Amino acid sequence: MALRQILTEPNSILRQKSLPVDLVDENIQSLMDDMLETMYGAPGIGLAAIQIGIPKRVIVLDIDQKEGKKNPIFLVNPEIIQKSKNLSTYEEGCLSVPGQFAEIDRPDKCNIKYLDYYGVKKEINAEGMLATCIQHEMDHLEGILFIDYLSKLKKTMIVKKLSKQKKALERIVV
Ligand code: ZN
Repeated sequence: MALRQILTEPNSILRQKSLPVDLVDENIQSLMDDMLETMYGAPGIGLAAIQIGIPKRVIVLDIDQKEGKKNPIFLVNPEIIQKSKNLSTYEEGCLSVPGQFAEIDRPDKCNIKYLDYYGVKKEINAEGMLATCIQHEMDHLEGILFIDYLSKLKKTMIVKKLSKQKKALERIVV
Protein backbone atom coordinates (compact mmCIF):
# COMPACT_ATOMS: atom_id res chain seq x y z
CA MET A 1 0.00 0.00 0.00
CA ALA A 2 1.13 3.52 -0.67
CA LEU A 3 -0.04 7.01 0.11
CA ARG A 4 -0.96 8.93 -3.03
CA GLN A 5 -1.17 12.65 -3.55
CA ILE A 6 -4.69 14.08 -3.47
CA LEU A 7 -5.39 16.58 -6.27
CA THR A 8 -7.09 19.81 -5.27
CA GLU A 9 -9.29 22.31 -7.08
CA PRO A 10 -8.59 24.04 -9.42
CA ASN A 11 -7.24 21.10 -11.43
CA SER A 12 -8.60 20.04 -14.82
CA ILE A 13 -8.07 16.34 -14.02
CA LEU A 14 -10.76 16.58 -11.33
CA ARG A 15 -13.16 17.65 -14.09
CA GLN A 16 -12.61 14.52 -16.20
CA LYS A 17 -15.25 11.83 -16.50
CA SER A 18 -14.01 8.53 -15.12
CA LEU A 19 -14.22 5.35 -17.20
CA PRO A 20 -15.79 2.04 -16.14
CA VAL A 21 -13.52 -0.73 -14.85
CA ASP A 22 -13.51 -3.79 -17.17
CA LEU A 23 -12.27 -6.28 -14.62
CA VAL A 24 -11.67 -6.06 -10.86
CA ASP A 25 -8.18 -7.56 -10.89
CA GLU A 26 -5.09 -7.20 -8.68
CA ASN A 27 -4.27 -3.81 -10.18
CA ILE A 28 -7.69 -2.44 -9.25
CA GLN A 29 -7.46 -4.02 -5.79
CA SER A 30 -4.06 -2.46 -5.23
CA LEU A 31 -5.50 0.89 -6.39
CA MET A 32 -8.31 0.46 -3.83
CA ASP A 33 -5.75 -0.37 -1.10
CA ASP A 34 -3.80 2.81 -1.90
CA MET A 35 -6.99 4.87 -2.02
CA LEU A 36 -8.09 3.57 1.37
CA GLU A 37 -4.72 4.30 2.98
CA THR A 38 -4.68 7.77 1.40
CA MET A 39 -8.25 8.44 2.60
CA TYR A 40 -7.54 7.33 6.20
CA GLY A 41 -4.29 9.32 6.18
CA ALA A 42 -5.94 12.56 5.00
CA PRO A 43 -8.15 11.91 7.09
CA GLY A 44 -11.41 11.62 5.16
CA ILE A 45 -14.49 9.43 4.87
CA GLY A 46 -14.61 9.02 1.10
CA LEU A 47 -12.31 9.14 -1.92
CA ALA A 48 -12.79 8.64 -5.65
CA ALA A 49 -9.92 7.42 -7.85
CA ILE A 50 -9.93 10.63 -9.90
CA GLN A 51 -8.92 12.52 -6.74
CA ILE A 52 -5.54 10.79 -6.98
CA GLY A 53 -5.49 11.33 -10.74
CA ILE A 54 -6.83 7.94 -11.88
CA PRO A 55 -9.91 8.32 -14.13
CA LYS A 56 -11.55 5.01 -13.18
CA ARG A 57 -14.98 4.48 -11.63
CA VAL A 58 -13.68 3.40 -8.22
CA ILE A 59 -14.70 4.78 -4.82
CA VAL A 60 -13.69 3.96 -1.25
CA LEU A 61 -15.77 5.02 1.75
CA ASP A 62 -15.74 4.57 5.49
CA ILE A 63 -18.27 6.67 7.33
CA ASP A 64 -18.13 4.54 10.45
CA GLN A 65 -14.59 4.91 11.81
CA LYS A 66 -15.37 4.66 15.50
CA GLU A 67 -12.87 3.69 18.20
CA GLY A 68 -10.26 2.77 15.63
CA LYS A 69 -12.50 0.14 14.03
CA LYS A 70 -12.46 0.30 10.27
CA ASN A 71 -15.46 -0.48 8.13
CA PRO A 72 -14.45 0.24 4.52
CA ILE A 73 -16.81 0.04 1.55
CA PHE A 74 -15.42 -0.38 -1.98
CA LEU A 75 -17.58 0.65 -4.92
CA VAL A 76 -16.53 -0.21 -8.48
CA ASN A 77 -18.71 1.02 -11.38
CA PRO A 78 -21.49 2.22 -9.04
CA GLU A 79 -24.84 3.06 -10.63
CA ILE A 80 -27.84 4.68 -9.02
CA ILE A 81 -30.96 2.55 -9.49
CA GLN A 82 -33.30 4.83 -7.56
CA LYS A 83 -33.19 8.09 -5.65
CA SER A 84 -35.78 9.42 -3.22
CA LYS A 85 -37.65 12.65 -3.86
CA ASN A 86 -37.10 13.78 -0.27
CA LEU A 87 -33.94 15.76 0.25
CA SER A 88 -31.65 15.97 3.24
CA THR A 89 -29.05 18.62 3.96
CA TYR A 90 -25.53 18.02 5.20
CA GLU A 91 -22.58 20.33 5.54
CA GLU A 92 -20.16 18.85 3.00
CA GLY A 93 -16.45 19.14 2.60
CA CYS A 94 -14.08 17.44 0.18
CA LEU A 95 -10.44 16.38 0.29
CA SER A 96 -10.06 18.07 -3.11
CA VAL A 97 -11.54 21.34 -1.80
CA PRO A 98 -9.50 21.68 1.41
CA GLY A 99 -10.83 23.79 4.26
CA GLN A 100 -14.12 24.67 2.54
CA PHE A 101 -17.57 23.54 3.67
CA ALA A 102 -21.11 24.21 2.47
CA GLU A 103 -24.62 22.92 3.07
CA ILE A 104 -25.77 20.82 0.13
CA ASP A 105 -29.22 19.27 -0.48
CA ARG A 106 -29.32 15.78 -1.94
CA PRO A 107 -31.88 12.94 -2.11
CA ASP A 108 -31.96 11.42 1.39
CA LYS A 109 -32.08 7.83 0.11
CA CYS A 110 -30.50 6.10 -2.85
CA ASN A 111 -30.37 2.57 -4.07
CA ILE A 112 -27.18 1.66 -5.92
CA LYS A 113 -25.63 -1.36 -7.61
CA TYR A 114 -21.88 -1.85 -7.89
CA LEU A 115 -19.05 -4.36 -7.85
CA ASP A 116 -17.23 -4.92 -4.56
CA TYR A 117 -13.51 -5.41 -3.80
CA TYR A 118 -13.68 -8.93 -5.28
CA GLY A 119 -15.71 -7.95 -8.35
CA VAL A 120 -18.92 -9.41 -6.91
CA LYS A 121 -22.20 -7.68 -7.85
CA LYS A 122 -23.83 -5.99 -4.85
CA GLU A 123 -26.57 -3.52 -3.98
CA ILE A 124 -26.90 -1.00 -1.16
CA ASN A 125 -29.99 0.82 0.03
CA ALA A 126 -28.31 3.87 1.50
CA GLU A 127 -29.84 6.58 3.61
CA GLY A 128 -28.72 9.51 5.72
CA MET A 129 -25.02 10.31 5.71
CA LEU A 130 -24.10 7.22 3.67
CA ALA A 131 -26.53 8.24 0.88
CA THR A 132 -25.01 11.73 0.82
CA CYS A 133 -21.43 10.40 0.78
CA ILE A 134 -22.15 7.96 -2.03
CA GLN A 135 -23.73 10.71 -4.14
CA HIS A 136 -20.86 13.11 -3.39
CA GLU A 137 -18.31 10.47 -4.47
CA MET A 138 -20.31 9.45 -7.54
CA ASP A 139 -20.33 13.11 -8.61
CA HIS A 140 -16.51 12.91 -8.70
CA LEU A 141 -16.83 10.19 -11.35
CA GLU A 142 -18.63 12.74 -13.55
CA GLY A 143 -16.13 15.52 -12.83
CA ILE A 144 -18.54 17.31 -10.48
CA LEU A 145 -17.52 18.89 -7.15
CA PHE A 146 -19.89 19.95 -4.37
CA ILE A 147 -19.01 23.60 -4.95
CA ASP A 148 -20.69 23.30 -8.38
CA TYR A 149 -24.05 23.36 -6.53
CA LEU A 150 -23.30 26.76 -4.96
CA SER A 151 -24.06 30.17 -6.46
CA LYS A 152 -21.56 31.36 -9.04
CA LEU A 153 -20.35 34.05 -6.63
CA LYS A 154 -19.71 31.63 -3.75
CA LYS A 155 -18.01 29.14 -6.02
CA THR A 156 -15.74 31.79 -7.56
CA MET A 157 -14.74 32.98 -4.08
CA ILE A 158 -13.83 29.45 -2.99
CA VAL A 159 -11.83 28.70 -6.15
CA LYS A 160 -9.94 32.00 -5.78
CA LYS A 161 -9.07 31.16 -2.17
CA LEU A 162 -7.85 27.70 -3.17
CA SER A 163 -5.74 29.13 -6.01
CA LYS A 164 -4.10 31.56 -3.57
CA GLN A 165 -3.43 28.75 -1.07
CA LYS A 166 -1.80 26.71 -3.82
CA LYS A 167 0.48 29.56 -4.87
CA ALA A 168 1.47 30.17 -1.24
CA LEU A 169 2.32 26.48 -0.83
CA GLU A 170 4.38 26.48 -4.00
CA ARG A 171 6.37 29.45 -2.70
CA ILE A 172 7.25 27.62 0.53
CA VAL A 173 8.28 24.49 -1.35
CA VAL A 174 10.65 26.50 -3.60
ZN1 ZN B 1 -15.05 14.96 -2.61
